[in-house]
Amino acid sequence: MEKAVFLDRDGVVNELIYHREQGIIDSPFTVAQLQIIDGVPEAIRIFHDIGYKIIIVSNQPGIAKKHMSMKTFEAIRQHIIDELISKGANIDAEYYCLHHPQAKVPELKEVCDCRKPKPGLIIKAAGELDIELKVSWMVGDGLTDIQAGKNAGCKTILIGKEKCELCRRMEQENARPDFICENLLQAASVIKNNNIP
Ligand SMILES: [Zn+2]
Repeated sequence: MEKAVFLDRDGVVNELIYHREQGIIDSPFTVAQLQIIDGVPEAIRIFHDIGYKIIIVSNQPGIAKKHMSMKTFEAIRQHIIDELISKGANIDAEYYCLHHPQAKVPELKEVCDCRKPKPGLIIKAAGELDIELKVSWMVGDGLTDIQAGKNAGCKTILIGKEKCELCRRMEQENARPDFICENLLQAASVIKNNNIP
């Protein structure tokens, strides 16, 4: 069986964007807003060197909320992949949940099994790609990433700062990550040091 590092996308691979018009911090809504976070290609290369598949698992309700079209979503998705490949870092697979319980687009209005904190995306990827979850990692910047990873039986890393508001909520929800790192490159060295060959 294979092992994997599951990555949340926005805030882990690419920078979150402050959308002035809507007054929200969210995923990029256009290709122009897209910026890969420093150190991410290096981190991905380290994961591959120590035998992990890299799989993006991400809630992307932007189409459901009418922030972007499917075409724009695809363009952003492709741009991230191309940008990483140009820096020698390839993504092995991507799994997205496009649903939202309050979607404006009727076809995407659903209480699904794939929206994190549910583990559906991770479980699906594991089934399709023969991944052993207990030796795999979920890395994300949100409470729902840590919950999804724990629900799937993975080890977890929060990208963020200790003593954050999120950490207090994690205590309340009993969803402490195994480690907290400032960025993906730091997470790569944690995973390298805790790697079971
Ligand atoms: Zn879903």
